[in-house]
Order: sequence, then C-alpha cells, then structure tokens
Amino acid sequence: MESIQEQLLINQALLAATQSLAQGSTPDEVLKAACNALVASSKHICLAWMYLGNPDSETISPSYTVGRASEYTENLIIDLSPEAMQGPGRRSLASNQPVLVDVRSDQTFGIWRERAIQYDLQEALTLPIGNPNETYRGLIVIFADSPAYFKQVGIEAFVAFSQLATVALQQANLKLMLEKMASFDHTTGLMNRRAFTEIIHREYAQSKRSGKPFSLLLMDLDRFKLINDNYGHETGDRILRGISETSRSTLRSCDWIGRWGGEEFLAILPDTDEAEAQAIAERLRESVDQFSIELNGQLIKATMSIGISSFPQDGETPDFLIRAADAALYEAKKTGRNRVVAAKEKHEIYSIASKINNAIANNRLVPAYQVIVDLKTRETVAEEALARLIDENGKPIEAMQFISAATELQLTHLIDSEIIKRTMNRCAGNIAAGGERIAHFVNLSGDFLLHQELIQELFIEAQAACLTCGIDLGPVKPLVLEITERQLLGDMNAVKAKLAPFLDFGMRLAVDDFGSGYSSFQYLAELPVSFLKIEGSLIKQIRDNRIRKIIGRIDDIAKDLNLITVAEFVEDADTANILCDIGIDWAQGYYFGRPVIAPC
Ligand code: GH3
Ligand code: MG
Ligand code: MG
Repeated sequence: MESIQEQLLINQALLAATQSLAQGSTPDEVLKAACNALVASSKHICLAWMYLGNPDSETISPSYTVGRASEYTENLIIDLSPEAMQGPGRRSLASNQPVLVDVRSDQTFGIWRERAIQYDLQEALTLPIGNPNETYRGLIVIFADSPAYFKQVGIEAFVAFSQLATVALQQANLKLMLEKMASFDHTTGLMNRRAFTEIIHREYAQSKRSGKPFSLLLMDLDRFKLINDNYGHETGDRILRGISETSRSTLRSCDWIGRWGGEEFLAILPDTDEAEAQAIAERLRESVDQFSIELNGQLIKATMSIGISSFPQDGETPDFLIRAADAALYEAKKTGRNRVVAAKEKHEIYSIASKINNAIANNRLVPAYQVIVDLKTRETVAEEALARLIDENGKPIEAMQFISAATELQLTHLIDSEIIKRTMNRCAGNIAAGGERIAHFVNLSGDFLLHQELIQELFIEAQAACLTCGIDLGPVKPLVLEITERQLLGDMNAVKAKLAPFLDFGMRLAVDDFGSGYSSFQYLAELPVSFLKIEGSLIKQIRDNRIRKIIGRIDDIAKDLNLITVAEFVEDADTANILCDIGIDWAQGYYFGRPVIAPC
C-alpha cells in the first residue's frame, strides 16, 4: 500500500464529506453522516459504528453500523464491567482522546477479539465525539482490514474529522434545544400553541386514516383576570402552573395537553368519542375545582370552563373543530362558567353558520329593500336594506332567523359588508340612471366596527360608488349607517374614531331600535346622530296612551336635537295617522311596503 497516496485520498474524501456533517439536523444524523464518510474514504476501512448517549451510566452498543464487515457489531455490547472499562472505546471516552489498537495483539479487546479476527478486522481507531463535560456524547469506531493501516496513513485526518463532527454535533444539539425552547411555554412547561397545532394536525391525519374518532377539549380559566388583579400576576402564574399540572395528571397518558393562549389550554384525546370526552372533561373540571394554592394562610381557588368538539361529528378540519370547541366554551361561559359544554349542543347554530358562509360564497346573501315614507306627504324618501339569505331551494330566509346565530359566531361583519356594498352599487346605479335621490339605510354591527380592514375597504368602495354615480351630490351622501343599541359598541371614543371617515365623507348616522336598551341617550349625547329610529315594539303598542306619550316625548327630544324620527313596524293606516299627529317624520312597515329583494 502506498501510504502517501492513500493519505491524500483520505484527506480529500474527508474534506469533501465535511459538508454532509453540517447538513445533519439531529445529533444522530451528524454521526451517521460521519460514519458513512469514514467508510467511503478508503476501501481499507471496512467498518464504522457509532454510539450516542450517556456512556457513564449505560452500556454502549452501536446505534448505526456501516461497511462490509457490519455483521461484526451484531450483539456488540460494551458494559460497565471492570474489563470492559479497559477496552479502547471506554478508554477513549474517559480520556477524550483517540485510541488506536492492533486487534490481534491488544489484550484489552477481550472477548471481541476472536470475532474481530473472524471478520478480518486488523486495526481499530476509536474517536470520541462531543464535549467530555457533557453527559450526552458520542463515539465512532472504525476498523481497517490491513495491519497497522492507521499507523501508516496517520490518524491526524481522522482526528480532525472527528473534531469537525464534534462541532456539527454541538450545533445539532443547540438546534434541538432551540426547537424545544420554541415549542414549550416557559410558565407551565406545556407545549405552546405553535407546537400543539402540529400535534392536532398529526392526530387529525391519523384519525382520518384509521377512521377512529378523537376529541378536543378547550379549557379557559374563569374570571382569571380577577385573580391577577387581586393577588398579582405571580400568584396568577402559580395557579396556571398548578392547574396545568393537575390537568396533565388527570388526563390519560395517551392524551395531549398544551397551552393554547393566556389562560387557555387545549387537550387532544386520541381515539375518544364525544361521550367519553364528556366524562374526561367532567373529571378535569372537577379536579381543577378541587385545586387551590395557599397564599399567606389563605386558600386561593380557580375554576375552569370546557368546550368539547369531536371528530368527525363536529367538524371536517382541525380548524373547524377548534372553532366548534370555542363556540361550546363560549356557551359554557355564558351559562354560568365552571361547566362543560359539548359542541353538538350548538349544532343548530353551526348549520346556520355554514349556511351563511355558503350563501356569501355563492352570492346568495342579498339585500331586500323596504321603503321608508314621509308621513306627511306619504312619498318615498328612503329605503332600508335588510339582509336575506337565499337557501339552496331559492327560498329567502329572513334576517331574524340567522342574525342571532351570526352574532354569536361573530359573522355579522361579513353580512354587513356584503349588504352595504350591494346597497352602495344600487344607490349609484339609481342616481346615475336619473332615479329619485332617496336615503339608503344600512345596518352596521359592533362586530363590523372591530374589523379595521373592512372599514377601510368600505370607505374605498364608497368613494368608487360616488365616482360611478358621476353626479355631484354635495356634502350630504345618501348612505345612512344604522347602529343599534341592542349591541354594546364599547368605548364611544373608539367608535367615533372608526366612524369618522364615513361621517366626514358625508354619510349620516341613525340610532336603531331606540328605546330597547339603556345606552341610547349616551349614543345621542356622544355621536353625531342624524336619525332616530324608534323601537318597533313601542310602535306596535301605539294605541296605549302611555306608550303614545313616551313616543311623543322621544319625538320632542329628537326635534330639540334636530334629528329626523323614523317609526318602524307600521302595519296599518291608523298607526300611521297617530304617528303623523304626534309629529314623527318618517315611517316604514308592511302598511307602506314589505321588504323586496331587488332583481340582480
Ligand atoms: P372569563 O371567565 O370570561 O374567561 O374571564 P377571564 O377574566 O378569565 O377572561 P379574560 O380573557 O378577560 O382575562 C384573561 C386574563 O388572563 C387576563 C390576563 O391578564 C390573564 N393572563 C393571561 N396570560 C397570563 C399569564 O401568563 N399569567 C397570568 N398571571 N395571567 C395571565
Ligand atoms: Mg378566562
Ligand atoms: Mg380567555
């Protein structure tokens, strides 16, 4: 053997292989790549094997072997006996140095010597990999088939290569540690939302394959803000930790639990149908109910509400299942907290939600327009756009039947947006065609105001609609935005700021359902309102003297504030006449016209 030539070849091969070390993304992959490269570097290297683990406390056996003499490592075990401790592998790890042995003459090779001879192994070189101070280390052992092979070619290139492998191993370890840190929540030690989402998708894929059900439990601590406010954030954290431990130990070993958000946890129960999930959730709720921590001699408790959804009955995709669990959780909160609610109890709402989504996607959510007349002249002065859903059979469904479900599932912004856009187009088309200039009333929900992107989109559409119409309407535009006092809009200043671009543009504001809630006067006081629509149930009772007086006073206030009053639910001539006598300006209702869906 020409050793200089061989040395050169080995150097080149190992140099070329350094890149494959860096590509290993786990410690295991790094060492495997090293073994492969070492065996490939010379035909005389007939075997390489590796070990990764904590050699101080366990027996060493190869986790990977490569080379034509691979069979040699079958059942190879280097235990912790005094004899084995003398062997080259153990010595190498203890000294963190390479050890070179002539297999045939070295006594420390012990019981493996005969087997080595059988496989024509002549010389062995052990290479420790990793940091000697760390418990998790590796070892690579390579064998040559010719006597004194390593002595002749020199071990420097192999040692240098093993040092590079050490660096790659450390990097791979670091990567794993970073991944672990990015996957776990610091406070509770549970998987975080990102990592847990992957588990949900995995479990879902598995269930789809096996055809077995699985369930999700979405848990949220009750009134947790109060605990933080009363006892401080650190105590809050202690409770979060305690509850996550209690939950983990109450769940079965096959179940998963992760931190889904602030004080929200999500559990996945594999191979579990809804009935079984109910029982587990109830146990979980109970165990949290029993849990408490002590603070200055005082016991502090927390309770938890749980929403359950099960695959496949409550949703076709992980996303939908989480939403179903969320809706169930919402129901548990609404109906008293410290409760378990299953999504199936909300199925009706879900079927409505899917109808709404379907209708929007297929252009089947349309406005029906109801005329509004001037009570004195009885001429049409405005119309209100009301949402209608056309079902699969072409039958219109009235807003009353789907708005409350839409509100609960926070879908009203989609409805508002669609209806307002269509109304703006109708208005522009109407004016451009020389039609009457009437006001167009549209409904705007609190949910819509939460969507900044929709507010912006609508503003752009409004500008575009005005351009299409091509006629200068002056500062006052035909669109009137109705806000209802049935829904709490929240902070008035924020509402004002959100509405400002529309009002600056010339749209006007109406308060709808005036007299149905408690915040109506606040709306009048704080928002630049132009119209006041009186709650329909009051109009229906107009023949009652007291009600008539109330409506009269409402009209007085409106007139003082320069507002136009509009009565809804006017169903007969008598009512219209009484309202006109009181001084109410405008009216709408079946008496003047039912809502009509405009042909597209
Ligand atoms: P509900 O019963 O409706 O769920 O009431 P709640 O007070 O629990 O709900 P809300 O969503 O209003 O408040 C959640 C609180 O959880 C507010 C937040 O400060 C607290 N929180 C979120 N993450 C942490 C955390 O990591 N540590 C602590 N101590 N508190 C947290
Ligand atoms: Mg909560
Ligand atoms: Mg919450």
